[in-house]
Amino acid sequence: MLGRSVVFLTRRSMALLSSSSSSSASSASSSVTAASIASRRGLSTTASTSASSAAAAAAAAAAAASKADAPKITTHYTIHPRESDPRWKDIDMTREADEADVVIVGGGPAGLSAAIRLKQLAEANGQEIRVCVVEKATEIGAHTLSGAVLEPRALDELFPKWREHENKFKTTEIKHDEMYFLTNSGKIPLPVLPYFPMNNHGNYIVRLGHFVKWLGERAEELGVEIYTGSPASEILFAEDNSVKGIATGDMGVAKDGSPKDGFQRGLELHAKVTLFAEGCHGHLTKQLINKYDLRKGRSFQTYGIGIKELWEIDPAKHKPGTVIHTCGWPMDHSTYGGSFLYHLDDGPLVAAGYVIGLDYTNPYMSPYREFQRWKHHPAIVDTFVGGNRIGYGARALNEGGWQSIPQLAVPGAALLGCSAGLLNVPKIKGTHNAMKSGMIAAEHIAEQLKDTSKTRLHLDKYEDAVKSSWVGKELDAVRNVRPSFNTPFKFIGGVLYSAFTFTTGGKEPWTFQHQHRDNESLKPAAESEEIVYPKPDGKISFDLLTSVALSGTNHEGDQPAHLTLKNDAIPQDVNLAVYAGPESRFCPAGVYEFVTDESNKQKLQINAQNCVHCKTCDIKDPTQNINWVVPEPGGGPAYNGL
Ligand SMILES: Cc1cc2nc3c(=O)[nH]c(=O)nc-3n(C[C@H](O)[C@H](O)[C@H](O)COP(=O)(O)OP(=O)(O)OC[C@H]3O[C@@H](n4cnc5c(N)ncnc54)[C@H](O)[C@@H]3O)c2cc1C
Ligand code: SF4
Repeated sequence: MLGRSVVFLTRRSMALLSSSSSSSASSASSSVTAASIASRRGLSTTASTSASSAAAAAAAAAAAASKADAPKITTHYTIHPRESDPRWKDIDMTREADEADVVIVGGGPAGLSAAIRLKQLAEANGQEIRVCVVEKATEIGAHTLSGAVLEPRALDELFPKWREHENKFKTTEIKHDEMYFLTNSGKIPLPVLPYFPMNNHGNYIVRLGHFVKWLGERAEELGVEIYTGSPASEILFAEDNSVKGIATGDMGVAKDGSPKDGFQRGLELHAKVTLFAEGCHGHLTKQLINKYDLRKGRSFQTYGIGIKELWEIDPAKHKPGTVIHTCGWPMDHSTYGGSFLYHLDDGPLVAAGYVIGLDYTNPYMSPYREFQRWKHHPAIVDTFVGGNRIGYGARALNEGGWQSIPQLAVPGAALLGCSAGLLNVPKIKGTHNAMKSGMIAAEHIAEQLKDTSKTRLHLDKYEDAVKSSWVGKELDAVRNVRPSFNTPFKFIGGVLYSAFTFTTGGKEPWTFQHQHRDNESLKPAAESEEIVYPKPDGKISFDLLTSVALSGTNHEGDQPAHLTLKNDAIPQDVNLAVYAGPESRFCPAGVYEFVTDESNKQKLQINAQNCVHCKTCDIKDPTQNINWVVPEPGGGPAYNGL
């Protein structure tokens, strides 16, 4: 296994970690019954709708806030500080600290590319640079979920000879690009012209988790210290308000928030510069953005949720190198979404997935069940007949693009990759941009470290460098694509505008702005139509818990839920009362379940063990009451090349 989590992370043994892990996929049947099959009418995303939902939510939130008899769900110290909890009075809270030159939070494409480039430059310049990567997954790649079509541009720059590497990760050269608009029962081919961003000529299909693992091995060869099973749980600040480093999570806190006998404090890692490469909607990145107001003068971020499965299909149907995308059914004209189907030259494997914009409006929508029913479409289903599903997972992705890139550096820290929001939406690709941003940051750091007297670095030219690189140019060129789907012309308007802007290369002198934050888009349930989804057949489509079990997700059961609620009453008083409990549907892992208590009232139960760390709840929760924090070290999915 790559990494050295146990030594660094805490003084506690890994044996304790694994022996105490509870079983995954606890019960989570949906409690919201659907009454009738709803026709998927166009759903308005007008300002008045948003205003009415916001007003309803605000009124209910106010009611919830004043409710004294709310059940206690959240026991996490970020909501109930330990300083004021007598159970913590005599606990030693001192942390050991270690010093590095560069600390990188997240061992994904961005973080590892930064680490590798730093070591390459150190070798070239004769510098000694200590680089530490902390990764919450117990193995590099185990929390990675992507499509994935890899555009090799950044990789070619990082390792020009990667194709000849003796232990190269598996790649599939792309031979065919197909794109279809699905009607209820048929398909209409759409052109993928050579200059369209979706054209995949020269790209490769990969299993991103395996690719990232390969990057991790290269990083370790170069002397990067990788600490897996080490979630960074806190940002540390110096007296001059610069970022001083991070602290890893504590271990040994009981579900009720009290210290267990084996309580172990996490460790501090201080650095001249800390790089946040947590991927989309990073938990610490969110804090950094808020603390330094990094979105000032920029748009808020917008998101999609991507749900993915890996299938071993009938070899007779396997077409290695074929990439298929669909739009249309089962989305209505107001909902942004589409599928991918990639045939890998690896077993008879197919990567299948569905991405839905998180600005959808109907609270009855279940992205998971939309994906399940998409597989039954007559133009799609045959691929899966006779096949065997071997992987499942989900992850949010950025859709805000160019307009939503925050300020990328503050004294002592910088944002990389999807933490910075660098995904190209029409391409559905962010890996190459994530890698390149890491490489650019590394170049700026190596330059500044030549002055050995500096104790803290400020990468003040990094943002301009990203924006003037090919990353910035490609994001700028497609900046109007995603918002063009939110005009009164909806889906058709978006398709037509996209074709126009692909032709101009984004040269039009205007920039569309995003209209609503994703948490503001839900209509109240009373104004929405219920959706009744077909029952899964157990062959092509599956119930949620069977799927979650395939993700290998596991968390220590006796710990405070890492899905924290700012106000424990809001799930019942707002989410259930106004929106019919949308968290029980937008979570792709069955974490949020409304159950009936002894007094016959519905209350929220959080099955935190099931969480696949997709971050959707933190984004979509209508009142932003849910705050995702890192769980105890070792928790999360165990994806194998997803
Ligand atoms: C469904 C889907 C399909 C996609 N398809 C494609 C595609 O075909 N091609 C493409 O190029 N891109 C695709 N993308 C986007 C691509 O996956 C991302 O752009 C890319 O993974 C971003 O790399 P990153 O390093 O910024 O973040 P990530 O890959 O998300 O890596 C972040 C890492 O940080 C770790 N981490 C997070 N928080 C902490 C913490 N506090 N402490 C320690 N570790 C932490 C995570 O466990 C993870 O390993 C897709 C994304 C999705 C969701
Ligand atoms: S609890 Fe939140 S982060 Fe976890 S799987 Fe569900 S929606 Fe995703």
